[in-house]
Amino acid sequence: MTQDVSFNVRNNNGEAVRVCAWRYEGDGSGPTVHLQAGVHADEIAGMLVLHLLMQRLQIAESQGRLKGRITVVPQANPLGIGQFRQGRILGRYHDATGHNFNRAFDLSAAMERPSTNIQEWQKSLVQLAATADVMLDLHTDDEALPYLYVHRSFWPRGRELAAAMKMDVAIIWDDGGDGSFEETIIAPWLRDGATEGRMAATLELRGQGDVSDRFAESDAEGLYNWLCGFGVIDEQVPPADWPVEAVEMGHMETILAPQPGVLIFEKELGDFVEEGQRFARILGRPGDPSSEVVLHAEQAGRLVTRYRDRLIPQGMGVAKFTGSRVSRNWSGGLLDPN
Ligand SMILES: [Zn+2]
Repeated sequence: MTQDVSFNVRNNNGEAVRVCAWRYEGDGSGPTVHLQAGVHADEIAGMLVLHLLMQRLQIAESQGRLKGRITVVPQANPLGIGQFRQGRILGRYHDATGHNFNRAFDLSAAMERPSTNIQEWQKSLVQLAATADVMLDLHTDDEALPYLYVHRSFWPRGRELAAAMKMDVAIIWDDGGDGSFEETIIAPWLRDGATEGRMAATLELRGQGDVSDRFAESDAEGLYNWLCGFGVIDEQVPPADWPVEAVEMGHMETILAPQPGVLIFEKELGDFVEEGQRFARILGRPGDPSSEVVLHAEQAGRLVTRYRDRLIPQGMGVAKFTGSRVSRNWSGGLLDPN
């Protein structure tokens, strides 16, 4: 039987809002799984993917083919869902406190009595996933290829997941330190050296506008097939065949906007560039040709993400590229991802 494991948190007015969550009970012979989407609220693609996946899980459960218990939280952040300004969802940050929704989960989880509603929400979400052996957190980027963030402990195991999801790139990381949901879940595994048979990853399902039946059906199928391959569902599925480029986090190149202005890309997502090759321009003062700055690739690689809007503020990330050597701007930690 599918179990309702929803819980309430307080919104900014102190009223209860619901985090809807469902649990599919397996026969206990497979890994325990936690799947969630929308921690940042404005990353929508995963919500539809999990919505579709749940229909498949329901069938698998009713046919007695579920080996592991699966918890699904298709819209993890009701607090962020309520934040709009001028017709656009804000996402990413809790407006009342400035808290990035996907940071400091570790601190919140360790608090006996969380002091803000965001911390309460974070603690409850961590508790819901506490017994999981598999945790997949579904995010999206601005505009992006589908790609994976995965801790080195889960590589090359993660290649099968990336391939099942038809992801072009997998970014391998070592040190976090931001208290993202993923980091918080895997911290005890890493501490105890208990990563065998486990899996955790942050999946970037393209860009924020990439919500469609075509993508969602493909992604839901990819997730389902991977769950079969990982022993969560009793069903034979041939392993996915898809070329995944593995990139060290420190090899990723992030190009920041040196000035504000009209952003004109000359390269598309997935395009390869040579070192020094131009890929975009920023027109600072339209009408003044001397105000145009041309942006060049730091090293040879592939264009993975782009800034979504075409008027960019100074200092914002214009694009991210894969690379094959350590970026000269690399200073450790995460890539301000997910
Ligand atoms: Zn995110």
